[in-house]
Parts: sequence; C-alpha cells; structure tokens
Amino acid sequence: MTNHTSSEPGAPPEKGTIPLCVPHLDGNEAKYLQDCVETNWVSSAGGYVDRFERGLAERVGREHSVATSSGTAALHLALRCLGIGPGDAVLVNTLTFIAPANAVRYVGAEPVFVDADSDTYQMDVDDLRHLIEDRFEEREGELHDPVTGRRVSAILPVHILGHPCRMDPILELADEHDLYVVEDASESLGSRYKGKPVGSLGDVAVFSFNGNKIITSGGGGMLVTDDGEVAERAKYLSTQAKDDPIEYVHEEIGYNYRMTNIEAAVGFAQLEQLDLHLDRKREIARRYDEALGRLTGIETMPRASWAEVVPWLYTPRLRGDTPRESLQRMKDCLRERGVETRPLWQPMHRSPAHRSTRSLQTAEDICRSALCLPSSVGLGAESQEKVVREVTSVLQGR
Ligand SMILES: *Cc1c(COP(=O)(O)O)cnc(C)c1O
Repeated sequence: MTNHTSSEPGAPPEKGTIPLCVPHLDGNEAKYLQDCVETNWVSSAGGYVDRFERGLAERVGREHSVATSSGTAALHLALRCLGIGPGDAVLVNTLTFIAPANAVRYVGAEPVFVDADSDTYQMDVDDLRHLIEDRFEEREGELHDPVTGRRVSAILPVHILGHPCRMDPILELADEHDLYVVEDASESLGSRYKGKPVGSLGDVAVFSFNGNKIITSGGGGMLVTDDGEVAERAKYLSTQAKDDPIEYVHEEIGYNYRMTNIEAAVGFAQLEQLDLHLDRKREIARRYDEALGRLTGIETMPRASWAEVVPWLYTPRLRGDTPRESLQRMKDCLRERGVETRPLWQPMHRSPAHRSTRSLQTAEDICRSALCLPSSVGLGAESQEKVVREVTSVLQGR
C-alpha cells in the first residue's frame, strides 16, 4: 500500500513514521477501477455512481442521495437547495474542520459559532439554546440575530471525530423555531445517536470520502435526504443546471460538482468494506482507552452513553496546569520519535477566515489540550503499541 499522506496541508510524514490516518484499500477497488477502464466509463456517469449512491442511502436509511466531487460541494449544495442565502445566519460548531463554515459563506450567509461541550467535544446544546432563546429575537414567526439583523434559518451540527452531536435537543429547538437542520456527518459515517445512524436525523446530511475519512473515494462527497425535491435540485445544480441533455440550455447558474465513475468505483468498493473499517476503528479506540486510561496526565477520548462512536481520529486530552506547553512538547517529541499526530482545528471564531467576537472558552480549552493520535484502519497492533509506548514515555518525562 502506498503511504498517502492525510489530505490537509502540512509536510508529509517521513519514511518509517506512523501516519495519522491513511486510506486502507483492501477490497475490490482495483477490480472496479479496471472495470471502469475496460468499459470506458470513467467520467461523471456510469454504474458505480448509481451503486455507490444507492448503497450509501440504504446504509444510512435515507431515500435519496446525490454523489458529489467533495464533501464541501455537498455542503454548499445542501445549503443552496434549502434556499439559505444572503441575509441568513446559520448556527454551526466552532470546533470543526473549516469546510462547513466556508460553505455557509459560499451562499452568502453568516455562520454563528456555537461552543463545544467538554463531555463530547460536540456542539454545546446549552450554548445553542442560550443563543436561540436569549440572544436572538422572534419577529413575525422568524428568528433574527439583532446584532447583524440576519434571519437565523438553519442549524448545522457537525458530528466531529466520529461522535454524534446531542441531536434530540437540536431537533427540538429547530422544530420550535422553524429552522432547517443540515448534519455534517463527514467524520462520522457509521456512528449512531440513540441507535439512529448519523446522517438520518436532519433535513439533509452530507458525508465526505476524502482520503483520510472512514471510507474514501479518493475525493468525493454525498448529500442524503428524504426530500425528493431537494435531491433532484441538488443533482440539477451539481450538473451545471443543465436543462436539456443535448442542447446547452441553462435556466440557472449551477456547478460542476459531480462525482466521477472512477471515484465512485473506489467509493463503492470501500463501502463494501465499511463494517470492517468500523470494527477496526473501534478496536483501535478500545486499545487506546485501555492503555491510556491507566496513565495520569491524559484523559481518554470522551464518549457519551447515548452514542455509538466510531472514533475517526482517536483524540485524548492532556491534563495539567500548562496544557499548551505540554501539548507542544508532546507533539514535538512524538514527531522526533516517528509518530505523526495533529492538533485539533483552530476554533472557527478564532480563525482569521471567520473571526467572530464571541468568547467560546470550552472549545478553546479542548483545542489547547487535545491531540489526534494515529488511527488508520490499517494501524497494526505493533505500531499502536509503539504509539502508546512513546506517549507514555513523554508523559513520564523520558
Ligand atoms: C472532511 C470534512 C468535510 C469535507 O471535506 P472534503 O475534503 O470537501 O470532502 C466537511 N466537514 C468536515 C467536518 C470534514 O471533516
């Protein structure tokens, strides 16, 4: 297997380094790719796109699905298809990869960032309720942010790191205030909230099949929904809003956001391996829990009792009075010893791209002390033991 690096920017890990999270292509990927080449179906139509779409929709328990060129494209389409645009505001986790916040901006809306809760790292529903009930104002049946004058039109819960958000209160608040719910399940395919698959709970949900995700199509995404009109519109906008199959007639401005048959061939082969990937991720997490749970100075990755978690990236937190310094030291030492790690994302309200003035302390605390450890599906027991050994020795000052 080639040693792909994770897709986010940064230097590739050196040879011999245990990578953070790389693809595991151990099923029918090569066979299906060969099939694409032999049949000449390599581009944005072909049997694998349909099979991948149907397979994923079934898996998540949704009626419709639209494959896209990326998870970010699926998010953009989801917001556009729900009619969210200039003048709107969307509530989104501050502790997330940047894609959902960017997608909110693509449609001209403004993200309003919600703090994280320390029990799960996910969207803090108390902060969400505080914003909706105390800060926003209800006017003529619409929720408004009095600071910006924008209409609040949707909640975008991002299920980060393979753990679901606390969906019942989110759905109740959305229902009470007539808000759409768009789930970003990019990092959490296969995880469940109170028995229900993530991606089956909001009006629309999106997944990503980027190289470091739970399954990959090289690059790609999927929008899923039970709303046939939304799905049809997403498909339409993803194909340059083409109104005639032959003549170049377009009523609207669309995008080239389709997934290719080549990508779908890989994605579909990966979907066949999903249960194996989920088992492996859980096994990796179980071993980290067991080994790190014995140590002082580190907290295992949190997990709510109502959640079935698929730790996409296993992410413990360092304890102690100076987490920022400890974290820097841990990262540096592990890199020197051949273990690739990553900090969490800078919270969105702190990001120069999206800066906002709210102070969201819990997200900042988590970010200062949390560290993603190697979590590839193919991570062997020996490599994982090495990671644990090195983490232990750094914690013990060796
Ligand atoms: C990976 C990811 C996405 C989408 O990423 P793409 O690279 O565009 O497929 C969206 N949201 C989150 C939270 C992600 O981690």
